[in-house]
Amino acid sequence: MNVKENKERVFSQVAHAMEQASRTDSVQVIAVTKYVGVDQALALVRAGVGHIGENRVDKFLEKYQALKEERLTWHLIGSLQRRKVKDVINFVDYFHALDSVKLAQEIQKRATHPIKCFLQVNISGEESKHGFAPEELDAVLPEIENLDKLQIVGLMTMAPFEASQDELQKIFAATHQLQTELQKKQLKNMPFTELSMGMSRDYDVAIANGSTFVRIGTSFFK
Ligand SMILES: *Cc1c(COP(=O)(O)O)cnc(C)c1O
Repeated sequence: MNVKENKERVFSQVAHAMEQASRTDSVQVIAVTKYVGVDQALALVRAGVGHIGENRVDKFLEKYQALKEERLTWHLIGSLQRRKVKDVINFVDYFHALDSVKLAQEIQKRATHPIKCFLQVNISGEESKHGFAPEELDAVLPEIENLDKLQIVGLMTMAPFEASQDELQKIFAATHQLQTELQKKQLKNMPFTELSMGMSRDYDVAIANGSTFVRIGTSFFK
């Protein structure tokens, strides 16, 4: 495994996907370091990666403690149990998996400053996936809007593992459309300007559909 070479390859493929999509705005690459220890994560940081993502609280805290002097942007990308919010939330720059009103209320209680959060949406309706169903949002948003320790920056989604190119295209396009509609509502504490979608196997399709944060693990560490 040559982390530096992998970094160069991933970043140039992301740039290529942006060009193919004729996009002139930007996309942030989050390096998901859950497969590796602190040493490999640090190698990636030395190679120029500035955004680190972890899906579990214990591993997030391990990397954060070891690398907090490195001027990184920290992403918690996986589901978060309410009882663990207090351990981690104030170290998180972006939380990607807000999937219940109760969790939002717990963040409101524990955060010492506004935390940037993505609402996770389950567009495919797959039962094993976390996230709000799109049709739930009208009821949910008013309950979250007044929580001033959460800034809802956008939507996050995950496509089913076995999704075809066609299905990926549909899921990411639908998420983009929903984000655009929510942004237009100009809700309090909810700019909805961002889209967190795309992993190693599907980030090109996600970028073609407006993703502004791709969460990439495997491609950096093989
Ligand atoms: C692991 C993980 C990723 C990265 O997946 P790869 O296929 O390894 O790129 C992205 N998002 C979440 C929520 C993850 O848990």
